[in-house]
Amino acid sequence: MAQVNLGNALESGRDAVRRHAWREAFDQLTAADQAESLNADDLEGLAEAAWWSGRADACISARERAYALQIEAGLPRRAALIALALAKGQFEQQAPAVGTAWLSRAQRLLRDEPIGIEHGYLARLQTVIALEADGTVKGCPSLPTIGYAGGNIRTLSLEDIWRTSPAIHFGRLRTIDDLWGFCRGCYYADVCRGGCTWTTHSLLGRPGNNPYCHYRVTQLARQGFRERIVKKEDAAPSPFAVGKFELILEPVPGAVSEPARSEAPAPPAPAPQAGNQGQGRIPPKLTLCHSCYQFVWPSEIACPFCGTDIEESAAAGDREHARLEALIADVEMLTRGQALPTRREPPPRLELPLIKRPPSDGPGDMEVLVEAVPRGMPSSPPASPEPNAAPVPMPHSGGATRV
Ligand code: SF4
Repeated sequence: MAQVNLGNALESGRDAVRRHAWREAFDQLTAADQAESLNADDLEGLAEAAWWSGRADACISARERAYALQIEAGLPRRAALIALALAKGQFEQQAPAVGTAWLSRAQRLLRDEPIGIEHGYLARLQTVIALEADGTVKGCPSLPTIGYAGGNIRTLSLEDIWRTSPAIHFGRLRTIDDLWGFCRGCYYADVCRGGCTWTTHSLLGRPGNNPYCHYRVTQLARQGFRERIVKKEDAAPSPFAVGKFELILEPVPGAVSEPARSEAPAPPAPAPQAGNQGQGRIPPKLTLCHSCYQFVWPSEIACPFCGTDIEESAAAGDREHARLEALIADVEMLTRGQALPTRREPPPRLELPLIKRPPSDGPGDMEVLVEAVPRGMPSSPPASPEPNAAPVPMPHSGGATRV
């Protein structure tokens, strides 16, 4: 352990950070922090020193404090950079769920900020490109070579491959017309475009219909259905080979008591589209409903999931956010032993004009919020097939079907 003189621990710690003398920096800044709480910049220095000294927990703790201070100071870009460092650290610690949560925070903080280097760091964690041993470039390491090789780095520049090869930028070129099954008529089809290419390709032989989707599972479950994947054939003993699988749509046992659930999920209505199909579009930004926390298309006036007025829910969400921030600030002051400042009453609790449904539709006698069915997922089958209906063979009543 480095010799620590409390009188100049902070300056010694900063100097050690500049020299990349990480153990010394960690000891000095830890001592300085105990004498007086470090500011956000020094906490970042402490976090870096902790990381390179093999103290992952101390690193995370220092970064989380630095993040809170940058948020408190109203510096979202700095906070986003710290959130990204936390996300990366958590991914490296094999904690993907926590890492994803930090990544989402960074995304939210940067969403309305002008493009800057922070967005580059965000893209670095969100995107991937694959290079095979012979120089073949693919859009993702998991994808097979056949059908997804964009070119060879020995003969083309990476930029040329990235800009010109459809086998690389298939995600930008994909449209709703390339989707199939449930995804084809999904409310989010034109934003999500069927989710992970590899997942669907390896399961069902072609992209555009992803059963490993939480939203899809919840939508099917609401109508008493579920999907099951059954392996029919093992993979061949060769690189990137995959087996053969079947996707089976079937009723959830015991979940077909309500009349609306005795039918299979109906083919959804055409989903909203962003326009400029086929021109390599960047997906549009969706709006968050602050009542049910589902993302909705910006053109929506009322949330198609819960019926709440989107603008009112955003305003109420802002008020609720301010109220909670004030409460958190109070708790932090109390835990530091400080007296609470005199201030106006915090805004009232979040109140939204929610539609209620009759208690008979809900579980037991509870009064519950309406389960408004989003566009693209009617609760009962239409009288005639929709013109743009998803090519999902529907099961006979109560039976299972293969997709
Ligand atoms: S069902 Fe899921 S994976 Fe498919 S388009 Fe909708 S959100 Fe994406």
